[in-house]
Amino acid sequence: MLYQANPARYKNMLYRRCGHSGLKLPAISLGLWHNFGDTTRFETGRELVRHAFDLGITHFDLANNYGPPPGSAEEHFGRILREDLLPWRDELIISSKAGYTMWEGPYGDWGSKKYLVASLNQSLKRLGLDYVDIFYHHRPDPNTPLEETMAALDLIVRQGKALYIGLSNYPAELAQRAFNILNKLGTPCLIHQPKYSMFERWVEGGLLDTLQQNGVGSIAFSPLAGGVLTDRYLAGIPEDSRAASGSVFLKPEQLTVEKLDKVRQLNAIAQARGQKLSQMALAWVLRGDRVTSVLIGASKTSQIDDAVISLGNLQLSEQEISDIEKILM
Ligand code: NDP
Repeated sequence: MLYQANPARYKNMLYRRCGHSGLKLPAISLGLWHNFGDTTRFETGRELVRHAFDLGITHFDLANNYGPPPGSAEEHFGRILREDLLPWRDELIISSKAGYTMWEGPYGDWGSKKYLVASLNQSLKRLGLDYVDIFYHHRPDPNTPLEETMAALDLIVRQGKALYIGLSNYPAELAQRAFNILNKLGTPCLIHQPKYSMFERWVEGGLLDTLQQNGVGSIAFSPLAGGVLTDRYLAGIPEDSRAASGSVFLKPEQLTVEKLDKVRQLNAIAQARGQKLSQMALAWVLRGDRVTSVLIGASKTSQIDDAVISLGNLQLSEQEISDIEKILM
């Protein structure tokens, strides 16, 4: 059936300014890393995207290698755009990335100008777009001069193939050097995409300060630790869950007794707040104003609903913060 966007989609979403830029991002963004490749039914991914947009989630995050196989998530999202969402293109923030292995040979990985430009050209073809809104360098490259990688990002913006550029997985000091180069080139970095959740707090060791000092926004990936920071695993490993899927990113043995004990304690605090643990986990990452958006994944529309409902209760009391801290220690 022909898709019609929900006329009430902007009623309940919160939009936060991304660093010192003119761009606002939804507090909840949807990532297409899992559940959008050839191994998932196309209609499932389509339903997730439509549902998200109907709730005011305007930002969809991709990368060249999302699938499996690599490239298939962009192909499927391209089809969703073509068949459903293109009339609303100007209401969407679509991002892609390059930095991990994408094709064989010396030009299909890391951070050379050759790779980044060629990879974005391929992504645009798969997506059926003239430009993406944000293009990221996906991970630092220890062997390519930072100047070359940043010059490639600057070039891509000047070519009109991306409106803004971002960095992902860069440690604080390297990010600072990259920001300096980009500022000189006249293409300031819009955003940084680090992993950040109650179980993964490396960004607190300097990166968030660096971003704030430079007016760069941030979008936290895997804020639910891939689903561990939810009630999903409290009564075993459900068959349809990521941990049961054979994913190398969430193996059953990572769900240790100690980890699940922490999850149970956190779940009790969430329940006392009248929230699900997944919702408190998002509120925790969004606390303060240093994280612009949380980048969730979803396998079911109800998970997107859970995330959006969390925006109704983002406040964490001093007591709750300190109780959470004791559990995480
Ligand atoms: P999350 O931590 O949000 O994990 C998402 C998973 O948690 C879902 O697929 C689902 O798993 C489960 N889940 C979500 N909501 C609920 C809920 N309410 N109740 C129970 N379970 C829930 O994020 P991801 O790890 O998926 O990463 C999100 C995005 O971040 C990616 O799509 C990608 O865009 C980006 N990313 C970026 C990286 C980078 O290097 N820049 C690396 C990794 C991710 P289930 O299948 O079990 O239902």
